[in-house]
Amino acid sequence: MANQNNQQNNNQENKNGNFFNDNPLLSFALFSIIIIMVFKGFVGESGDMSTMFNKQNSPVQQVKYSEIKKLINDGKITSVKLRPRYIEAISDDSGVKMRYSAENIPALDRELVPLMESKGVTYEGVMGGGFLAEIISTLLPFLILIAIWLFVVKRMSKGMGGGILGVGKADKMINSEKPDTKFDDVAGVDEAKFEVKEIVDFLKYPERYIELGAKIPKGVLLVGPPGTGKTLLAKAVAGEASVPFFSVSGSGFMEMFVGVGASRVRDLFAQAKQEAPSIIFIDEIDAIGKSRASGGQMGGHDEKEQTLNQLLAEMDGFGTDTPVIVLAATNRPEILDAALLRAGRFDRQVLVDKPDFDGRLAILKVHSKDVKLSSKVDLTIVAKQTAGLAGADLANIINEAALLAGRFNKKEIDQSDLLESIERSFVGLEKKNRKISEFEKRIVSYHESGHALMAEITKGATRVTKVSIIPRGLGALGYTLHLPDDEDRFLKQKHELMAEIDVLLGGRAAEEIFIGEISTGAGNDLDRATAILKDMITVYGMTDVAGLMVLSRSQNSFLGGGAVSTDYSEKMAEDMDNYIRSTLNERYTFVKKTLNEYHQAIENMTAVLLDVEVIEGKKVRSIIAEYEEENNLESRLAHGDKIAKAEAFAKEQSEKNSQDS
Ligand code: ADP
Ligand code: ZN
Repeated sequence: MANQNNQQNNNQENKNGNFFNDNPLLSFALFSIIIIMVFKGFVGESGDMSTMFNKQNSPVQQVKYSEIKKLINDGKITSVKLRPRYIEAISDDSGVKMRYSAENIPALDRELVPLMESKGVTYEGVMGGGFLAEIISTLLPFLILIAIWLFVVKRMSKGMGGGILGVGKADKMINSEKPDTKFDDVAGVDEAKFEVKEIVDFLKYPERYIELGAKIPKGVLLVGPPGTGKTLLAKAVAGEASVPFFSVSGSGFMEMFVGVGASRVRDLFAQAKQEAPSIIFIDEIDAIGKSRASGGQMGGHDEKEQTLNQLLAEMDGFGTDTPVIVLAATNRPEILDAALLRAGRFDRQVLVDKPDFDGRLAILKVHSKDVKLSSKVDLTIVAKQTAGLAGADLANIINEAALLAGRFNKKEIDQSDLLESIERSFVGLEKKNRKISEFEKRIVSYHESGHALMAEITKGATRVTKVSIIPRGLGALGYTLHLPDDEDRFLKQKHELMAEIDVLLGGRAAEEIFIGEISTGAGNDLDRATAILKDMITVYGMTDVAGLMVLSRSQNSFLGGGAVSTDYSEKMAEDMDNYIRSTLNERYTFVKKTLNEYHQAIENMTAVLLDVEVIEGKKVRSIIAEYEEENNLESRLAHGDKIAKAEAFAKEQSEKNSQDS
């Protein structure tokens, strides 16, 4: 995104080159301000234009009225001009012309005229410049206010596409650039890349296709979760074909004023056609392309409909021989209006999904090109630990790690910086200086030890990466981090979901056993455990409550969690509640029993936690293993099982081999 912004800025600067032509009102306002300054600076208190213009000839000296009177009395003054607001006296003393000016108070001073008569001074009353100045100086503040108001209105309407005054084109909302992004910059989405590659060819050699009479796709919809590189991919298409890239955001079309969006669409297509071959990119197209059936709120309906209609008309309007390709991005394809997806419009959809392990590794490699990584860094570890993250998150993790390394004045980024950066993106920033009482620390330590123990000894649970009682993020006082260290997982088996529930209950159970009372710290855990059970019943058909019947449907595969429940009977709801409650109780009893068995292991873990605040997964496992050995407990390490099996197998093999030989 960073380089995109740069280019945008350049673009705007170019457009602003002719500043005054672009902003007549702004220049008017500036002009008014200059006038005001001229008035204040040169005319001073006198308020007369003529003084300003005579300034060069002879200097004007501001004096008190009494002084002028004294000068007249002394016979130094030859002539006097009486103006409405001031009095100007000229002395021609020994050939040097001097002007004196003072506030006029002749109306009060009945002695002035007789005095001048007696001294032979010529005098006259003048209205002229003084009057004009009067009018202007009265009106000027109003003029300036009007100018400022017009300027503000203009700025506002610019932001909205020139709605109010009907001036200003949509140019500021449409970004045009010639990106130098290449396909190599987009990693981990090979299928999507493959799909859009032929577009590049069409943009590069349009004649080839046109001569053959081929119908070129006009619109391609890039579908995928946020941050997966849809914008980047669209740019790479433009970059590879070296054609101009016009981009707008769907939400930018949605304005207060009816008709603005439509005119913006018209502008966009006009510009793109003028510079064809070219690419138009519409981000968040769902903002305009929302199904008309779903209705609009807050009176924005008409506007949306007009904008959408204009978009459809534009797409139908240019023939398949105009090499302009419209790429649009959305993470909610299911809400798009069917008209948008019809043939000749966005009839192609390309999935840009979250990357798998290999994809993440590739993306990490792309982004670590620009930073200094220590040669010891193993990016495969990072790729394993970041399952579920999108390209933008990965880019961010690399950058955060660089910032961290910089803060500690390191020359290179090492693995620990990367791990810290991953943790930040999962659980938020460390809050080292939040003061927590010793008592609360104890609660948190037991709670987290409970989670960690259950995670380690339950088959199907993800093992512990780290346990910490350093507060992080918004709410967490402590946390147990489970980063996957296996290959990517796309499915979860039932026993794994149940394991997750046991791990979640471990925190609360530990508080009950070791502290003797429950705190509010377990609220979130219980919430999640309940949600898992609910999904098992309503979505996955894993229980007898509803059997295979689905009671809720997930609405959007990308946003996740958007489940809507279908209709079911009250009896079913009751059964569901009963099942969830009894299962949670049953698991809770089991977890408490387990923690009791491992009583001393939890005490040991808590002691270490209170001492050093953070313990790694390895240490957690050694504490548990030690305890199991001492107490002759059968090891229930889920992964231990696997390892034991593998070891047994290897032993068997080697025994076989030795027998054979
Ligand atoms: P989207 O448009 O899908 O929301 P973007 O294209 O804006 O996502 O991605 C934001 C940034 O994240 C990109 O500029 C890039 O730095 C990084 N990024 C995202 N996906 C990828 C990818 N597949 N390969 C490399 N970098 C990526
Ligand atoms: Zn917890």
